[in-house]
Amino acid sequence: MAEPKCPECGVVGMDHIVSEESVQSSGVGDPFFNVAYCDECGHIYGVYAKTVNRPSTRMPPVPKHYFTRI
Ligand SMILES: [Zn+2]
Repeated sequence: MAEPKCPECGVVGMDHIVSEESVQSSGVGDPFFNVAYCDECGHIYGVYAKTVNRPSTRMPPVPKHYFTRI
């Protein structure tokens, strides 16, 4: 199994990839996204929607203005 390597500082290993809930207030107080980043230099690997604690197939209600500001 290949270990991930940080393109910024070159540190190798899953241990150096940490994820954190981004506190983007959705109005309900739940963190909406997780951010995976390098704990050495802070390089951001990616941002992904937090769905792990919602195992149901139903989509959570998302206010439209949260994504588009018209
Ligand atoms: Zn790094």
